[in-house]
Amino acid sequence: MAINTNSSNVATRENRIGSITGYVGNLKDLAEKSECGSLKGCSRCFSQSSTCLSSCGLSQLAAIRDVAVIHHGPAGCSVASAGNYYLDKVMAKKRGVTTSTVYVGTDMNEQDTIFGSTQALGKIIREVNKRYSPKAIFVSSSCATGIIGEDIDSVVDEVRDEIDVPVVAVHCEGFKSRIWATGFDIADHAVLSSIVQPPREGVKSNKINFKNFYESARPEIIEIFKNFDLDPVFLYCNSTVEELSHISESLATTCICGTLGNYLGNGLEEKYGVPYVRSINQCGIVGFETWLREIGRVTGRSEKVEKYIEEQRAIYIPQIEEIKKELKGLRAVIGMGPGYTFEVSRVLNELGIEVVWALAWHYDKKYENGDVPPSMKYLLENNINFEASVSDQQNYEVMNILHKYKPDLYLSRHPGSTVWAIKNGTSAVYVADEYMIFGYKHTLEFAKSILDSIRNRSFEQNLAKRVKLPYTDWWYKQNVDAFFDSNNTPKERG
Ligand code: SF4
Repeated sequence: MAINTNSSNVATRENRIGSITGYVGNLKDLAEKSECGSLKGCSRCFSQSSTCLSSCGLSQLAAIRDVAVIHHGPAGCSVASAGNYYLDKVMAKKRGVTTSTVYVGTDMNEQDTIFGSTQALGKIIREVNKRYSPKAIFVSSSCATGIIGEDIDSVVDEVRDEIDVPVVAVHCEGFKSRIWATGFDIADHAVLSSIVQPPREGVKSNKINFKNFYESARPEIIEIFKNFDLDPVFLYCNSTVEELSHISESLATTCICGTLGNYLGNGLEEKYGVPYVRSINQCGIVGFETWLREIGRVTGRSEKVEKYIEEQRAIYIPQIEEIKKELKGLRAVIGMGPGYTFEVSRVLNELGIEVVWALAWHYDKKYENGDVPPSMKYLLENNINFEASVSDQQNYEVMNILHKYKPDLYLSRHPGSTVWAIKNGTSAVYVADEYMIFGYKHTLEFAKSILDSIRNRSFEQNLAKRVKLPYTDWWYKQNVDAFFDSNNTPKERG
């Protein structure tokens, strides 16, 4: 689907790429239905709380150094600002840089929701510019402004000429998508449409855009890429507006997670011809090698990449093979965003661990370029199948699955999900850091973390004995799709 940067609005993932949040079946069925276009998402008649897309979108933008984010909505919508503020300062300190980014809520009240508050918004934008001199100003909507039809685009157009830095309207009405990852696309759209400039003539670059969350492996990746004469530009955590304005000059774009980087990668390719590296991600051995080889191919550095792979294999593969002997036969349930679920499933398979059920917090039928996500394609081509569901972090469904399958361990990238597994007595690995399974070195460490968590289960067992969970036997006896809308519940099971 073409990316239209002339409009400030982005269509939701549901509408653009057919993403869903409700499905129960198996991987093969999920993929086949995606391919032929018959996959139908199911809604639930009961649902636990989920996340608002504005948290994803605005946290991405607030991670850029020295900008202002103005969240136009009731105070409750800006609640994520405290976490963002803290995280941004910590990440900047860790990197050894400073940031003066501010996150301002406009605190809409009842009167504003009746009479509108566009005038006040205009004043706030001018005041923020005067007080903080940011390098860019992102003005976001919310559910309340969306419902009353507050025209933030007009306000932004009105103040744009008075302010000499980019002022960008960002449409973050939480109600428009059930998929919080739509927020990533919204942030990318804002950057693509208002910050990124066309490549300067005659500028030669050895840079590669690397979209990630918190650049925790920055020094390590810089060192790896030196072997290929590539200089990674990490986005957006600690990026400057100046850096972002030149990402159209890079040799390629890659990312740590397809869910996070797909929109920007495709947008840069479509608009400026910067190739987007489309491969499975860097998790595990196969993932790391496939990803490096694709970078080598796209940037014309295949020889250097092969040399690096050979050297690193000699160091790490014997150690990984050794530890695999102890992992063989373990059974796991996994619950993560789709960018990781199907990648980590592949790694577990590599390590000899059986995935008995995989939950993805949403599922993208196809990516922006029309292809099935590479992680999914890999599993299918390699005949790997397991039971799977799509569930927007509905932990009651996770508990139902854990109770039935009694796996050796549960893996999730969301602490609010692992804590329930632990209360249930299931060992859990919190795959918190995005680089926790990156490349050979971290795959080895990941395998060791799994061993640690299953060797001593006393914490989970003791906690489970003392905690009274809110779930009844009735719920554990139900099929996990018991609350799916009866009109579109898929009943085929693999
Ligand atoms: S934008 Fe909507 S969904 Fe998001 S925090 Fe505000 S009210 Fe909640």
